[in-house]
Amino acid sequence: MKIAVLPGDGIGPEIMTEALKVLKVLDLKLEFEQALVGGAAYDAVGEPLPANSLALARAADAVMFGAVGGPQYDTLPRAKRPEQAILGLRKELNLFANLRPAIVYEELADASTIRADVVAGLDLLILRELTGDVYFGQPRGTRTLENGEREGFDTMRYSESEVRRIAHAGFRAAMKRSRKLCSVDKANVLETSQFWRDVVIEVAKEYPQIELTHMYVDNAAMQLIRNPKQFDVMVTGNLFGDILSDEASMLTGSIGMLPSAALDDKSKGLYEPIHGSAPDIAGKGVANPLATILSAAMMLRYSLNQDAAADRIEAAVRKVLAGGYRCADIQQPGKRTIGTSAMGDAVVAALG
Ligand code: NAD
Repeated sequence: MKIAVLPGDGIGPEIMTEALKVLKVLDLKLEFEQALVGGAAYDAVGEPLPANSLALARAADAVMFGAVGGPQYDTLPRAKRPEQAILGLRKELNLFANLRPAIVYEELADASTIRADVVAGLDLLILRELTGDVYFGQPRGTRTLENGEREGFDTMRYSESEVRRIAHAGFRAAMKRSRKLCSVDKANVLETSQFWRDVVIEVAKEYPQIELTHMYVDNAAMQLIRNPKQFDVMVTGNLFGDILSDEASMLTGSIGMLPSAALDDKSKGLYEPIHGSAPDIAGKGVANPLATILSAAMMLRYSLNQDAAADRIEAAVRKVLAGGYRCADIQQPGKRTIGTSAMGDAVVAALG
């Protein structure tokens, strides 16, 4: 299995080194090939996503992505900005399903701004459709009406094939977990949402093992704060998913711990931590590599069908936290604070 490794900028290379360290001791016959993206690629060849990096990602079975960006690139024209690398990869690889887990380890429940008993042990997965909805629907723009009033407008739309493929991704993810799927929409008000719900119900017939429920997005936003542990897998459109996945990530309170994935319809995926390139701590050896290590575990589960190896990594991370090891971002009184490389070593040692 070929893995394209795109470390990027800032802390990207540091955290990627640790994820590779963990993957390499698993003895899974993975082949790694590295290429430049983001600001690092712009500095080298003048493009944030050079053709050879894209070709490597296309040819691979999965892509591991670090992070891109930095203040020195903020004044570049949009097409040359580091973020274009991630947008370009999503588009070129047809990555339409964004998987955003929100996991609260018992030991880190105090990091959340929500009461520890509400979030401790949370293990939730949100699937957000990434390429459709009101973000891309046409027509869109601003115009002046006959009476001289100006207005802005966007179009919310989902085609049947778009809803079907994200619904399938949701059901497939639920099959790998507790077999419960909650589809989030606004079917009481929006035609697009009623259509979404009808199509999800049709797709559900192919997954009789899964318990499907539906929830309106306003209620889902409330329930995520009130009782987030009622959910296992949620599937929703681009707009609602954008908001709910950020809300869910904040239930955990620790940005350095959260992995993510973006998948195509054949479960090929790009895996990355949700945080950015953290230029403020780059090169200091203090970045938390656990989000990237957990992204590697997601890659094993969702793209490479190596569920047992994914479980091993996740169990090792739990063991390291239970053993009292912390990086600076999740520092707690009485716990041992260690650097990026030592955290990678600790996870390797905990693999058993
Ligand atoms: P950021 O996520 O990089 O950092 C926010 C804060 O969290 C910083 O204080 C940082 O030190 C800390 N932090 C982040 N990851 C950490 C980790 N693993 N361990 C310890 N601390 C960590 O967000 P930002 O500062 O808003 O953005 C910095 C750059 O990253 C910008 O150029 C932005 O465009 C880019 N960015 C890239 C991605 C991506 O590559 N997918 C995502 C978000 C932001």
